[in-house]
Amino acid sequence: MYGIDHYIGGTFSRGSGTRSGPVFNPSTGEEIYRCNYADRATVDEVAKVAVAASRAWAAQSQTRRLQVIFKMRELVIANIEALAEITGLEHGKTIDDAKGEIGRAVEALEFATNAPQVTKGEYSVNVGGGIDTFSIRQPVGVVGCIAPFNFPVMVPLMMGAMAVAVGNAVVVKPSERVPGATALVSELWKKAGLPDGVWNVVNGDAEVVNAILEHPSIAAISFVGSTGVGEYIYQKGCSHNKRVAAYTGGKNHMVVMPDADLEAAAAAFISAGYGSASQRCMAISLLVAVGDQTADKLRALIVPMVEKLRVGSYNDKSADFGPLVTAAAKATVEAAIDRAVAEGAELVVDGRVSVEGRNGFYVGASLVDNVTTDMQMWKEEIFGPVRGMMRVASLDAAIEVVNAHEYGNGAVIFTRNGRAAQRFYMEVEAGMQGVNVPVPVPVGHHNFGGLRRSKFGDAHMFGPDAARFYTKMKTISQRWPEPDAALDHAVSMSFPSNG
Ligand code: NAD
Repeated sequence: MYGIDHYIGGTFSRGSGTRSGPVFNPSTGEEIYRCNYADRATVDEVAKVAVAASRAWAAQSQTRRLQVIFKMRELVIANIEALAEITGLEHGKTIDDAKGEIGRAVEALEFATNAPQVTKGEYSVNVGGGIDTFSIRQPVGVVGCIAPFNFPVMVPLMMGAMAVAVGNAVVVKPSERVPGATALVSELWKKAGLPDGVWNVVNGDAEVVNAILEHPSIAAISFVGSTGVGEYIYQKGCSHNKRVAAYTGGKNHMVVMPDADLEAAAAAFISAGYGSASQRCMAISLLVAVGDQTADKLRALIVPMVEKLRVGSYNDKSADFGPLVTAAAKATVEAAIDRAVAEGAELVVDGRVSVEGRNGFYVGASLVDNVTTDMQMWKEEIFGPVRGMMRVASLDAAIEVVNAHEYGNGAVIFTRNGRAAQRFYMEVEAGMQGVNVPVPVPVGHHNFGGLRRSKFGDAHMFGPDAARFYTKMKTISQRWPEPDAALDHAVSMSFPSNG
């Protein structure tokens, strides 16, 4: 069974921690094994190993480093079935959905092979007095990568691929709910020829995260997870003088204008809203219909589609989506449905009914209409398959709703009017936007990241900015006079200026 132990210096290790936590199969509700949690001493050990490995790895040629990334890409593709199986088993997402996220991990590896294109320096000749000035980028050293449960393969590899490609060592802390996939990924790195100690994994919860945040040998932190935790990690990491990129929660609105292709918009809402049991930071949470007629037409299209969605085991080929990750997540989502009704929203489809009596953490697809901005149903990120409809009178009102939210991860407009689309992306405060595109997750060679409380820090982890985040810049000014030239020996006390 993968995921029981940490991976330190190229071998699986129990570490010195004495705590452990359960890993479930959400499709049956059964505990499948206990994952050993790291303690501070284990983090000390892994940091020591990673520092030594990072120095040797940084000294290797770019070509050698990139050969490993190329090989890793091949191995991830060759092992897609095994990776998808572990992901489905521990997370609950369907095998096809798991393969989709693995495809994005492959994309991250592919883009990481372009690292030298991003990290190459700049050079200015004779900026003054025969001096050349140039900048270089060097790896930061050791990077702590703290991952969420919802993309067990993609997020650790999106963080780690670029960090490793530019010459760092990493200490990955997967979600304690889904540690198995990262363990298999560790084996693949070894097969790809990555030197021991460059890719390490420690398992656990807040205790191990705090030890990583406080460790003086860890220079940078990549975090993806919920907003409360991300804000804490950003502040604590910064207070320990680390660079921190923290990607957090979202509540993504999909605005549909009266002129849109409503059938296409309805289909897009279903796939982007309910895919992966809505456990995606870029899931569409709320459909904002402009005009009552648009809303009524959309509702007539959407309701039968929601009612038809089938929730089932991760390996049930006929399931549209799987269970939620834990019993607690199921309870939270069920309570959110009750609360929406108590707040005055209309429960149009109650997905709880369809899964009554089943083992596993299942919640069926639910839809509530007439959501308003004073409801928790609008305010909170709900990480489960209950989606909301809102009705507004105009594009201006729709933009106001989107911008009133604390989150700014994604936002989408469906329209045939170019000017409406242009106004939307110019005025809406969301980092990733779609025009007639329901899940606007950028491809690997573009930066990924939200705005407002969906992201802390101005760094980007994925895309070209990731290579910058994982490297530090030095700027050097140098002069090489003729060996026999007489140098100026005068002392000057004024601040030097060029010339
Ligand atoms: P989470 O915040 O519960 O956990 C994320 C990581 O933080 C885990 O490794 C966990 O062990 C650790 N952690 C949890 N509590 C902690 C604490 N008190 N102190 C220190 N560390 C702690 O998030 P999750 O439930 O695993 O993931 C879902 C969340 O992630 C959602 O909010 C989702 O929107 C977000 N997410 C965001 C993006 C993005 O790019 N913006 C992508 C994927 C997921």
